[in-house]
Amino acid sequence: MRAMGVRAFGGADAIEALSVEPPRPGPGEALLRLRRAGVNYIDVYMRSGVYKRSDTYKTPLPMVLGMEGAGTVEAIGEGVEGLCAGERVAFSLARGSYADFIAVPAWRLARLPDDISDEAAAALMLQGMTAHYLTHSAYPLRPGERCLVHAAAGGVGQLLVQLAKARGAEVLATVGSEDKAEIARARGADHAILYRKEDFRERVMELTGGEGVAVVYDGVGRNTIAGSLRSLRRRGTCILFGGASGAVESIEPLELAEAGSVFFTRPHLADYMASAEEIAGRAADLFAMLRSGRLNVVIDRTFPLEAAAEAHRALENRTTRGKLLLEIA
Ligand code: NDP
Repeated sequence: MRAMGVRAFGGADAIEALSVEPPRPGPGEALLRLRRAGVNYIDVYMRSGVYKRSDTYKTPLPMVLGMEGAGTVEAIGEGVEGLCAGERVAFSLARGSYADFIAVPAWRLARLPDDISDEAAAALMLQGMTAHYLTHSAYPLRPGERCLVHAAAGGVGQLLVQLAKARGAEVLATVGSEDKAEIARARGADHAILYRKEDFRERVMELTGGEGVAVVYDGVGRNTIAGSLRSLRRRGTCILFGGASGAVESIEPLELAEAGSVFFTRPHLADYMASAEEIAGRAADLFAMLRSGRLNVVIDRTFPLEAAAEAHRALENRTTRGKLLLEIA
């Protein structure tokens, strides 16, 4: 089968076609024929070895990339019940979606209603789930609370802004350019801050009358974390959920005290998609919002499977504005 991945950790150029046999569904697994794969920043970390010490996300080499996709059930393994060949499904956090086929633990699958497209599903299963757990579980936003969302015109960012608004929050958003500011506002952000031009922490304090925000959702990491901690209100919460600008190596406990006795967490999506029920619940919420028009899933570009390296370059060069997909079938 066709499969794109890496034999050694490296830059986007390390991505190549791998010669791989189609997987067989093991006990509890379903074999899927993929139609779309989602491209995510975590794929960049996998490719470059950022997660090589992680127990949650192991990175054996050679490795087919991709952790999100949508397609149809081709076959089921022993012990799988209630799933038949031909059903449309989507998933995240199974490994190797930049390929024609993938074997996925059946409990990770969300069944797709007829009115949810493969494209939307492949965009929502990782980035949508992330935006959902950040706003509903890691820090459940309450109406009227203020939050700060970094990289708000990105894949997760655009969904995060919309879900935060749906919960009634006031959203302050940082973005890398003027046109991205337009996008963030179009998704509902109340304020867009150009963090490459202005000190975002100063702007947050100005916009909040010196109080700061209840929560910062920070997926940018190294370049923003210090300002994020200092943008919080007293006893606010900092959620560091990624490092698009580089990984944060350490935070001194005293920094949390000095920032106003704030709370800090660094979550993995896997811990918020921990059971079939949790996945089904979040998927149902997201699909309902999409159906009712309250959620806009913006597909920026779709690349052929073989152009996976180009998709990674676009993501790392900050030229994307929404979701990137790979077309497989
Ligand atoms: P995005 O579409 O948001 O792309 C990354 C964006 O980060 C860029 O477009 C850019 O926006 C911003 N950025 C800031 N500094 C840099 C830099 N130095 N290099 C590259 N980009 C930079 O990606 P995703 O939506 O896929 O992911 C967003 C974040 O969410 C990532 O950190 C990812 O790891 C994290 N994530 C974490 C999960 C978790 O559960 N922990 C799950 C899913 C995603 P701008 O130009 O506006 O600054």
